[in-house]
Amino acid sequence: MTSKDIINKTKKYVANTYSRFNIAIENGKGSLCYDFEGNEYIDFTSGIGVNSLGFCEQSWVDAVSFQSSILNHTSNLYYSAPGAELAEKLCTKTGYDKVFFANSGAEANECAIKLARKRSFLKYGENRYKIITLQNSFHGRTVTTLSATGQDSFHKYFSPFTEGFEYVPANDIRALEKAIDKSVCAFMCELIQGEGGVIPLDLDYVKKAEQLCRKNDLTFIVDEVQTGIGRTGALLASEQFGVFPDITTIAKGLGGGLPIGACLMKDTCSNVLEPKDHATTFGMNPVVCAGANVVMDAMTDEFLNEVKEKSKLICKTLESLDNIKSVDGLGLMLGLSLKNKKAIDVACECNDNGLLILTAKEKLRLLPPLNISFDKLKKGLDILCEIISE
Ligand SMILES: *Cc1c(COP(=O)(O)O)cnc(C)c1O
Repeated sequence: MTSKDIINKTKKYVANTYSRFNIAIENGKGSLCYDFEGNEYIDFTSGIGVNSLGFCEQSWVDAVSFQSSILNHTSNLYYSAPGAELAEKLCTKTGYDKVFFANSGAEANECAIKLARKRSFLKYGENRYKIITLQNSFHGRTVTTLSATGQDSFHKYFSPFTEGFEYVPANDIRALEKAIDKSVCAFMCELIQGEGGVIPLDLDYVKKAEQLCRKNDLTFIVDEVQTGIGRTGALLASEQFGVFPDITTIAKGLGGGLPIGACLMKDTCSNVLEPKDHATTFGMNPVVCAGANVVMDAMTDEFLNEVKEKSKLICKTLESLDNIKSVDGLGLMLGLSLKNKKAIDVACECNDNGLLILTAKEKLRLLPPLNISFDKLKKGLDILCEIISE
Protein backbone atom coordinates (compact mmCIF):
# COMPACT_ATOMS: atom_id res chain seq x y z
CA MET A 1 0.00 0.00 0.00
CA THR A 2 1.08 3.55 -0.67
CA SER A 3 0.40 6.61 1.45
CA LYS A 4 -1.97 7.78 -1.27
CA ASP A 5 -4.06 4.57 -1.06
CA ILE A 6 -4.40 4.92 2.68
CA ILE A 7 -5.30 8.57 2.53
CA ASN A 8 -7.94 7.90 -0.14
CA LYS A 9 -9.47 4.97 1.78
CA THR A 10 -9.60 7.05 4.94
CA LYS A 11 -11.25 9.96 3.15
CA LYS A 12 -13.78 7.63 1.55
CA TYR A 13 -14.78 5.49 4.55
CA VAL A 14 -13.91 7.36 7.76
CA ALA A 15 -16.22 10.11 9.04
CA ASN A 16 -14.80 13.47 8.16
CA THR A 17 -14.24 14.71 11.74
CA TYR A 18 -10.51 15.51 11.58
CA SER A 19 -8.39 17.79 9.44
CA ARG A 20 -5.34 15.58 9.06
CA PHE A 21 -1.85 16.34 7.83
CA ASN A 22 -1.07 14.70 4.51
CA ILE A 23 1.12 11.97 6.00
CA ALA A 24 0.36 8.26 6.50
CA ILE A 25 2.66 6.72 9.09
CA GLU A 26 3.62 3.08 8.64
CA ASN A 27 5.91 2.44 11.58
CA GLY A 28 7.99 4.15 14.21
CA LYS A 29 10.70 3.53 16.78
CA GLY A 30 11.61 5.96 19.53
CA SER A 31 11.33 9.54 18.28
CA LEU A 32 11.43 8.59 14.60
CA CYS A 33 8.68 7.37 12.31
CA TYR A 34 8.35 6.50 8.64
CA ASP A 35 5.66 6.86 6.00
CA PHE A 36 4.80 4.17 3.45
CA GLU A 37 7.42 5.48 1.05
CA GLY A 38 10.12 5.23 3.72
CA ASN A 39 10.45 8.97 4.39
CA GLU A 40 11.71 9.61 7.93
CA TYR A 41 10.20 12.08 10.41
CA ILE A 42 11.40 13.29 13.79
CA ASP A 43 8.41 13.31 16.13
CA PHE A 44 7.66 16.44 18.19
CA THR A 45 4.01 15.40 18.75
CA SER A 46 4.02 12.00 20.53
CA GLY A 47 0.50 11.48 19.19
CA ILE A 48 -0.69 14.58 21.08
CA GLY A 49 1.16 13.79 24.29
CA VAL A 50 0.29 10.09 24.27
CA ASN A 51 3.47 8.24 23.28
CA SER A 52 5.37 9.35 26.39
CA LEU A 53 8.14 6.85 25.64
CA GLY A 54 8.01 7.38 21.90
CA PHE A 55 7.03 4.84 19.28
CA CYS A 56 7.21 1.17 20.31
CA GLU A 57 9.73 1.46 23.15
CA GLN A 58 11.07 -2.06 23.69
CA SER A 59 10.12 -2.70 27.34
CA TRP A 60 6.63 -1.31 26.62
CA VAL A 61 6.27 -3.58 23.57
CA ASP A 62 7.44 -6.57 25.62
CA ALA A 63 5.01 -5.89 28.48
CA VAL A 64 2.04 -5.28 26.17
CA SER A 65 2.87 -8.29 23.97
CA PHE A 66 3.30 -10.58 26.95
CA GLN A 67 0.10 -9.42 28.63
CA SER A 68 -1.90 -9.79 25.40
CA SER A 69 -0.62 -13.35 25.15
CA ILE A 70 -1.77 -14.39 28.65
CA LEU A 71 -4.89 -12.30 29.39
CA ASN A 72 -6.52 -9.73 27.10
CA HIS A 73 -9.68 -8.76 29.00
CA THR A 74 -11.67 -9.89 32.00
CA SER A 75 -14.41 -7.28 32.56
CA ASN A 76 -14.58 -5.53 35.90
CA LEU A 77 -16.50 -8.43 37.44
CA TYR A 78 -13.13 -10.10 38.16
CA TYR A 79 -9.74 -9.07 39.50
CA SER A 80 -6.59 -8.92 37.39
CA ALA A 81 -2.97 -8.06 38.10
CA PRO A 82 -1.87 -5.19 35.80
CA GLY A 83 -4.63 -2.81 36.93
CA ALA A 84 -4.09 -3.60 40.61
CA GLU A 85 -0.38 -2.88 40.22
CA LEU A 86 -1.01 0.29 38.25
CA ALA A 87 -3.46 1.57 40.86
CA GLU A 88 -0.88 0.97 43.60
CA LYS A 89 1.83 2.77 41.61
CA LEU A 90 -0.39 5.73 40.84
CA CYS A 91 -1.58 6.14 44.44
CA THR A 92 1.79 5.65 46.15
CA LYS A 93 3.63 7.94 43.72
CA THR A 94 1.05 10.76 43.83
CA GLY A 95 -0.34 10.58 47.37
CA TYR A 96 -3.87 9.90 46.15
CA ASP A 97 -6.08 7.38 47.93
CA LYS A 98 -7.94 5.62 45.11
CA VAL A 99 -8.33 5.61 41.35
CA PHE A 100 -11.11 4.92 38.84
CA PHE A 101 -9.90 3.70 35.45
CA ALA A 102 -11.57 4.99 32.29
CA ASN A 103 -10.55 4.92 28.63
CA SER A 104 -9.99 8.55 27.72
CA GLY A 105 -9.53 12.03 29.11
CA ALA A 106 -13.17 12.95 28.61
CA GLU A 107 -14.27 9.87 30.54
CA ALA A 108 -11.83 10.57 33.36
CA ASN A 109 -13.41 14.03 33.60
CA GLU A 110 -16.95 12.59 33.48
CA CYS A 111 -16.01 10.51 36.50
CA ALA A 112 -14.64 13.57 38.29
CA ILE A 113 -17.83 15.54 37.58
CA LYS A 114 -20.13 12.75 38.79
CA LEU A 115 -17.97 12.25 41.86
CA ALA A 116 -17.94 15.94 42.79
CA ARG A 117 -21.71 16.17 42.36
CA LYS A 118 -22.41 13.06 44.43
CA ARG A 119 -20.04 14.13 47.17
CA SER A 120 -21.90 17.42 47.44
CA PHE A 121 -25.31 15.71 47.23
CA LEU A 122 -24.49 13.43 50.16
CA LYS A 123 -23.31 16.34 52.28
CA TYR A 124 -25.54 19.24 51.24
CA GLY A 125 -28.51 17.80 49.33
CA GLU A 126 -29.95 18.47 45.92
CA ASN A 127 -29.31 22.00 44.77
CA ARG A 128 -25.57 22.28 45.09
CA TYR A 129 -24.36 20.93 41.76
CA LYS A 130 -22.73 23.77 39.82
CA ILE A 131 -19.13 23.41 38.66
CA ILE A 132 -17.05 26.47 37.91
CA THR A 133 -14.53 26.08 35.10
CA LEU A 134 -12.30 28.55 33.26
CA GLN A 135 -12.82 30.43 30.05
CA ASN A 136 -10.66 28.99 27.25
CA SER A 137 -10.49 25.61 28.98
CA PHE A 138 -10.77 22.22 27.31
CA HIS A 139 -12.16 19.18 29.10
CA GLY A 140 -13.34 16.80 26.37
CA ARG A 141 -15.94 16.05 23.70
CA THR A 142 -18.80 14.27 25.44
CA VAL A 143 -21.87 16.45 25.87
CA THR A 144 -21.08 17.02 29.55
CA THR A 145 -17.35 17.66 29.15
CA LEU A 146 -18.18 20.05 26.29
CA SER A 147 -20.37 21.85 28.81
CA ALA A 148 -17.40 21.99 31.15
CA THR A 149 -15.26 23.41 28.33
CA GLY A 150 -15.29 27.21 28.57
CA GLN A 151 -15.20 28.06 24.87
CA ASP A 152 -18.27 29.26 22.96
CA SER A 153 -17.08 27.60 19.75
CA PHE A 154 -17.74 24.21 21.36
CA HIS A 155 -21.29 25.12 22.38
CA LYS A 156 -22.95 24.99 18.97
CA TYR A 157 -25.25 22.40 17.31
CA PHE A 158 -25.54 19.89 20.15
CA SER A 159 -27.96 21.51 22.59
CA PRO A 160 -29.29 20.93 25.09
CA PHE A 161 -25.96 20.72 26.89
CA THR A 162 -25.59 19.48 30.46
CA GLU A 163 -26.63 22.19 32.88
CA GLY A 164 -24.66 23.41 35.84
CA PHE A 165 -21.41 24.85 34.52
CA GLU A 166 -20.24 28.43 34.81
CA TYR A 167 -17.08 29.91 33.30
CA VAL A 168 -14.82 32.52 34.88
CA PRO A 169 -11.74 34.22 33.41
CA ALA A 170 -8.43 32.54 34.31
CA ASN A 171 -6.09 34.22 36.81
CA ASP A 172 -8.86 36.45 38.21
CA ILE A 173 -9.34 35.31 41.80
CA ARG A 174 -12.03 37.96 42.48
CA ALA A 175 -14.12 36.58 39.60
CA LEU A 176 -13.87 33.08 41.06
CA GLU A 177 -14.75 34.33 44.53
CA LYS A 178 -17.77 36.20 43.15
CA ALA A 179 -19.00 33.14 41.25
CA ILE A 180 -19.07 30.93 44.35
CA ASP A 181 -22.52 30.70 45.91
CA LYS A 182 -24.70 28.02 47.56
CA SER A 183 -25.25 26.25 44.23
CA VAL A 184 -21.55 25.58 43.58
CA CYS A 185 -19.98 22.21 44.42
CA ALA A 186 -16.67 22.23 42.57
CA PHE A 187 -14.00 24.18 40.72
CA MET A 188 -12.22 22.52 37.79
CA CYS A 189 -9.24 23.71 35.76
CA GLU A 190 -6.21 22.74 33.73
CA LEU A 191 -2.92 24.09 35.12
CA ILE A 192 -1.65 24.74 31.61
CA GLN A 193 -4.48 25.24 29.15
CA GLY A 194 -3.33 22.92 26.40
CA GLU A 195 -5.83 22.97 23.53
CA GLY A 196 -6.52 26.58 24.51
CA GLY A 197 -3.02 27.55 23.32
CA VAL A 198 -0.48 26.29 25.89
CA ILE A 199 -1.24 28.95 28.51
CA PRO A 200 -0.02 28.26 32.07
CA LEU A 201 -2.10 29.61 34.95
CA ASP A 202 -0.40 31.93 37.45
CA LEU A 203 1.06 30.05 40.40
CA ASP A 204 -0.46 32.46 42.88
CA TYR A 205 -3.92 32.13 41.31
CA VAL A 206 -3.87 28.34 41.53
CA LYS A 207 -2.89 28.43 45.21
CA LYS A 208 -5.58 30.98 46.03
CA ALA A 209 -8.15 29.01 44.05
CA GLU A 210 -7.27 25.95 46.13
CA GLN A 211 -7.74 27.98 49.32
CA LEU A 212 -11.15 29.20 48.11
CA CYS A 213 -12.16 25.61 47.45
CA ARG A 214 -11.14 24.61 50.99
CA LYS A 215 -12.92 27.59 52.52
CA ASN A 216 -16.18 26.81 50.71
CA ASP A 217 -15.84 23.02 50.80
CA LEU A 218 -15.75 22.82 47.00
CA THR A 219 -14.20 19.81 45.31
CA PHE A 220 -11.01 21.05 43.65
CA ILE A 221 -10.60 19.16 40.36
CA VAL A 222 -7.48 19.52 38.24
CA ASP A 223 -7.57 18.18 34.69
CA GLU A 224 -4.06 16.86 34.06
CA VAL A 225 -5.10 14.83 31.04
CA GLN A 226 -2.39 16.60 29.04
CA THR A 227 -0.01 17.87 31.74
CA GLY A 228 0.13 14.67 33.82
CA ILE A 229 2.59 11.75 33.89
CA GLY A 230 5.88 13.54 33.44
CA ARG A 231 4.90 15.91 30.65
CA THR A 232 5.87 19.05 32.57
CA GLY A 233 8.97 17.58 34.23
CA ALA A 234 7.11 16.39 37.35
CA LEU A 235 4.87 13.35 37.67
CA LEU A 236 1.94 15.74 38.09
CA ALA A 237 2.06 19.44 37.23
CA SER A 238 0.23 20.18 40.49
CA GLU A 239 3.52 19.44 42.31
CA GLN A 240 5.05 22.39 40.48
CA PHE A 241 2.11 24.61 41.35
CA GLY A 242 2.27 23.58 45.03
CA VAL A 243 -1.31 22.29 45.26
CA PHE A 244 -2.94 18.97 46.06
CA PRO A 245 -6.36 18.85 44.38
CA ASP A 246 -9.16 16.62 45.70
CA ILE A 247 -9.37 15.02 42.27
CA THR A 248 -6.82 14.85 39.47
CA THR A 249 -7.69 13.40 36.08
CA ILE A 250 -5.03 11.96 33.80
CA ALA A 251 -5.11 10.17 30.46
CA LYS A 252 -3.05 10.99 27.38
CA GLY A 253 0.50 10.03 28.38
CA LEU A 254 -0.42 7.36 30.92
CA GLY A 255 -0.80 4.39 28.57
CA GLY A 256 2.22 5.16 26.41
CA GLY A 257 0.05 4.72 23.30
CA LEU A 258 -2.95 2.72 24.46
CA PRO A 259 -6.29 4.25 25.49
CA ILE A 260 -6.62 4.87 29.23
CA GLY A 261 -7.92 7.59 31.50
CA ALA A 262 -7.87 7.75 35.27
CA CYS A 263 -9.59 9.75 37.98
CA LEU A 264 -7.42 10.04 41.08
CA MET A 265 -9.24 10.71 44.34
CA LYS A 266 -8.08 12.01 47.70
CA ASP A 267 -9.45 10.37 50.85
CA THR A 268 -12.16 13.08 50.98
CA CYS A 269 -13.61 11.68 47.75
CA SER A 270 -12.52 8.08 47.59
CA ASN A 271 -15.57 6.51 49.24
CA VAL A 272 -18.24 8.51 47.44
CA LEU A 273 -18.79 6.34 44.37
CA GLU A 274 -20.25 2.91 45.05
CA PRO A 275 -21.23 -0.11 42.94
CA LYS A 276 -23.74 0.92 40.23
CA ASP A 277 -22.75 4.62 40.44
CA HIS A 278 -20.13 4.43 37.72
CA ALA A 279 -18.58 1.84 35.41
CA THR A 280 -17.06 1.26 32.01
CA THR A 281 -16.64 -2.04 30.15
CA PHE A 282 -13.10 -1.46 28.94
CA GLY A 283 -11.78 0.27 32.07
CA MET A 284 -8.71 -1.27 33.74
CA ASN A 285 -8.03 -3.45 30.70
CA PRO A 286 -5.02 -5.71 31.48
CA VAL A 287 -3.13 -5.05 28.24
CA VAL A 288 -3.57 -1.30 28.51
CA CYS A 289 -2.59 -1.32 32.20
CA ALA A 290 0.51 -3.42 31.41
CA GLY A 291 1.63 -0.63 29.05
CA ALA A 292 0.84 2.03 31.64
CA ASN A 293 2.88 0.17 34.27
CA VAL A 294 5.96 0.49 32.04
CA VAL A 295 5.31 4.21 31.63
CA MET A 296 4.93 4.63 35.40
CA ASP A 297 8.14 2.70 36.05
CA ALA A 298 10.00 5.06 33.71
CA MET A 299 9.03 8.13 35.80
CA THR A 300 12.14 8.29 38.00
CA ASP A 301 13.54 11.56 39.34
CA GLU A 302 16.41 11.26 36.90
CA PHE A 303 14.01 10.83 33.98
CA LEU A 304 11.92 13.83 35.06
CA ASN A 305 15.03 15.98 35.51
CA GLU A 306 16.02 15.15 31.95
CA VAL A 307 12.60 16.33 30.78
CA LYS A 308 13.41 19.67 32.43
CA GLU A 309 16.87 19.78 30.83
CA LYS A 310 15.38 19.14 27.39
CA SER A 311 12.85 21.86 28.03
CA LYS A 312 15.63 24.31 28.86
CA LEU A 313 17.47 23.41 25.67
CA ILE A 314 14.35 24.03 23.57
CA CYS A 315 13.60 27.36 25.27
CA LYS A 316 17.19 28.57 24.99
CA THR A 317 17.38 27.63 21.32
CA LEU A 318 14.05 29.14 20.34
CA GLU A 319 14.09 32.30 22.46
CA SER A 320 17.22 33.45 20.63
CA LEU A 321 15.37 33.56 17.28
CA ASP A 322 14.15 36.91 15.93
CA ASN A 323 10.83 35.54 14.69
CA ILE A 324 9.72 34.15 18.04
CA LYS A 325 7.45 36.33 20.15
CA SER A 326 7.29 34.02 23.17
CA VAL A 327 7.73 30.46 24.40
CA ASP A 328 5.15 29.32 26.97
CA GLY A 329 4.54 26.14 28.91
CA LEU A 330 6.46 23.78 31.13
CA GLY A 331 8.67 20.77 30.52
CA LEU A 332 7.99 19.19 27.14
CA MET A 333 4.64 20.92 26.69
CA LEU A 334 5.59 24.15 24.97
CA GLY A 335 3.82 26.69 22.76
CA LEU A 336 5.56 29.16 20.46
CA SER A 337 4.10 32.47 19.33
CA LEU A 338 5.55 33.54 16.02
CA LYS A 339 5.98 37.10 14.81
CA ASN A 340 5.46 36.91 11.08
CA LYS A 341 4.45 33.40 10.12
CA LYS A 342 1.30 31.37 10.67
CA ALA A 343 1.80 28.37 12.95
CA ILE A 344 -0.09 26.03 10.63
CA ASP A 345 2.08 27.06 7.65
CA VAL A 346 5.25 26.39 9.65
CA ALA A 347 3.86 23.00 10.76
CA CYS A 348 3.18 22.00 7.14
CA GLU A 349 6.65 23.15 6.07
CA CYS A 350 8.16 21.13 8.95
CA ASN A 351 6.29 18.05 7.68
CA ASP A 352 7.82 18.52 4.24
CA ASN A 353 11.25 18.68 5.89
CA GLY A 354 10.92 15.61 8.12
CA LEU A 355 9.57 17.03 11.39
CA LEU A 356 6.14 16.35 12.89
CA ILE A 357 4.89 19.26 15.01
CA LEU A 358 1.49 20.46 16.29
CA THR A 359 -0.40 23.71 16.60
CA ALA A 360 -2.70 24.97 19.38
CA LYS A 361 -4.83 27.99 18.46
CA GLU A 362 -2.36 30.50 16.93
CA LYS A 363 0.71 28.83 18.38
CA LEU A 364 3.09 26.10 17.32
CA ARG A 365 2.96 23.34 19.90
CA LEU A 366 5.75 20.98 20.89
CA LEU A 367 4.93 17.72 22.68
CA PRO A 368 7.92 15.49 21.92
CA PRO A 369 8.27 12.04 23.49
CA LEU A 370 9.58 12.49 27.05
CA ASN A 371 12.51 10.18 26.34
CA ILE A 372 13.58 11.85 23.08
CA SER A 373 17.40 11.86 22.89
CA PHE A 374 19.22 15.21 23.02
CA ASP A 375 20.58 14.34 19.59
CA LYS A 376 17.13 13.90 17.97
CA LEU A 377 15.85 16.92 19.83
CA LYS A 378 18.64 19.09 18.41
CA LYS A 379 18.08 17.72 14.90
CA GLY A 380 14.37 18.51 15.13
CA LEU A 381 15.10 21.99 16.48
CA ASP A 382 17.51 22.62 13.59
CA ILE A 383 14.71 21.90 11.10
CA LEU A 384 12.26 24.05 13.04
CA CYS A 385 14.66 26.99 13.53
CA GLU A 386 15.56 27.08 9.86
CA ILE A 387 11.90 27.21 8.80
CA ILE A 388 10.97 29.83 11.40
CA SER A 389 13.93 32.00 10.40
CA GLU A 390 13.38 31.83 6.61
C1 LIG B 1 -7.09 15.88 25.42
C2 LIG B 1 -7.72 16.46 26.61
C3 LIG B 1 -8.96 16.02 27.08
C4 LIG B 1 -9.78 14.99 26.35
O1 LIG B 1 -9.17 13.76 26.30
P1 LIG B 1 -9.75 12.62 25.31
O2 LIG B 1 -8.88 11.43 25.59
O3 LIG B 1 -9.60 13.14 23.91
O4 LIG B 1 -11.16 12.41 25.66
C5 LIG B 1 -9.44 16.56 28.27
N1 LIG B 1 -8.74 17.50 28.93
C6 LIG B 1 -7.56 17.95 28.51
C7 LIG B 1 -6.83 18.97 29.31
C8 LIG B 1 -7.01 17.47 27.33
O5 LIG B 1 -5.84 17.94 26.89
